Amino acid sequence: MLYISDKLIRAMEQEAQRAYPRECCGVIFGRLDGQAKYAESLRPSENSFEEGEQYHRFRITAEQMLGAELYARREGLDIVGFYHSHPDCPAVPSEYDRSHALPVYSYIIVSCVKGRAEDLTCQQLGKDTDYTRFAKEEIIIRGV
Ligand SMILES: [Zn+2]
Repeated sequence: MLYISDKLIRAMEQEAQRAYPRECCGVIFGRLDGQAKYAESLRPSENSFEEGEQYHRFRITAEQMLGAELYARREGLDIVGFYHSHPDCPAVPSEYDRSHALPVYSYIIVSCVKGRAEDLTCQQLGKDTDYTRFAKEEIIIRGV
């Protein structure tokens, strides 16, 4: 279960629209508390995938991850998940998304159709201890 503000949802949608027709991507910071995750801030990452493939792929490099981990440590936060967009595709995780995902984290996908954010889903790998597939994770909007 991911608790997140409407403001952060809108920020991810804006990122998706700004990056269109490429995929945007970024890290979600907050607090982990058992099964619950509380999102508090976002940090957009540069999509480091090859230019010609960015319409359907994103990559956050090891260096970017290290930067995100150091940022989280400085701010006293945890990394609670990642977000990216699907330009002109449904907000359904691809096989590529699944094979590059890690358990526990929330994976938010924003579907951006013709440059407009239209749908958003949240997935988690290894829910119900099945690490071979994504399962939808509930999002609870709190705050503005
Ligand atoms: Zn994807």
